[in-house]
Amino acid sequence: MRKALITGITGQDGSYLTELLLEKGYEVHGIVRRSSTLDRPRLKGLYQNQDVYGKRLFLHYADLTDVTTIRRIITKVEPDEFYHLAGQSHVGLSFEIPESTCEVTAMATLRIMEILRDLPRVPKFLHASSREIFGTPSISPQDEQTPVNPNSPYGVAKTFATQMTRIYREAHGHFFCNAICYNHESPRRGENFVTRKVTLGAARISRGKQKTISLGDLDAARDWGYAKDFVQAMWLMLQQSRPDDYVIATGESHTIRELLETAFAHVGLRWEDHVIVEDRFRRPADPCQLLGNPSKARAELNWQPTLTFRELIELMVDEDLESEG
Ligand code: NAP
Repeated sequence: MRKALITGITGQDGSYLTELLLEKGYEVHGIVRRSSTLDRPRLKGLYQNQDVYGKRLFLHYADLTDVTTIRRIITKVEPDEFYHLAGQSHVGLSFEIPESTCEVTAMATLRIMEILRDLPRVPKFLHASSREIFGTPSISPQDEQTPVNPNSPYGVAKTFATQMTRIYREAHGHFFCNAICYNHESPRRGENFVTRKVTLGAARISRGKQKTISLGDLDAARDWGYAKDFVQAMWLMLQQSRPDDYVIATGESHTIRELLETAFAHVGLRWEDHVIVEDRFRRPADPCQLLGNPSKARAELNWQPTLTFRELIELMVDEDLESEG
């Protein structure tokens, strides 16, 4: 039985990846940090399943800053594959908390790679990188060769971790890869990300529980994919015969206005009647319309998105409608 160790297992991607790996017969270990509640909503189904939890799924306590504990966990688990998904994942918030963003997203990644490098059998390593490494690129769409030029503390931290991953692959010869991910969403997306804010807002407004949503720049555009598809790409990357970096994206860009139109139309409402534009939601340095070119992932990993933008947003609205009763 192959063993995988996941950081960020309680997050959106970590929870989907756990389900995927369990389906594929892996023994899955996850690193969780201590919090004041034991509620891990994205893992709930697995955590409460006695056939899975403690038999094929194991959780270990450590914060990303607990280097000694992480070393101990890695040494004990001896994973075949290491998926490093943990980090402060909110770009806007990284302007408020740049120090901890860099500590957990940049330095912790380096420290993990240092631990892995010392092992007698170095596992395959996947770093969840981000399109934010490109900042405001002059080339569109962006691919694996696009120069890095980050313009947020989050982007800088991810760039450091991405380049370090490349260095460990090229200088030390390890099977270390970057999944350079464009935005990916799902019903499990955090509620302070714009897609979820809109789908949840549309669901609540249609149920009479909320009246308006406040947003920033409605013309900002993103390449939005489905998180479940993205973790499939991450897994495929570690199944290749040689390690490499891949842009994981849909190759399609949509504005927040289109997001609003799609979500509100699905609940039979006009978004114009419920949206307030507020400057405080504009990002200090909002990138231009970032668009990924997933050709390499398509050709080499045989990967492609399974949901269209409309299908993804409607899926999210449907789940939010269900949870709002
Ligand atoms: P997420 O839902 O915010 O999950 C982040 C995970 O990291 C959570 O499990 C969180 O634990 C954990 N974490 C944060 N700080 C930690 C710390 N100090 N110690 C231990 N664990 C810590 O993010 P996601 O959407 O799944 O994204 C996964 C990765 O992909 C992230 O690195 C993100 O930056 C990157 N990425 C995401 C996107 C996207 O669109 N989703 C795009 C590009 C790159 P708690 O549950 O305890 O908070």
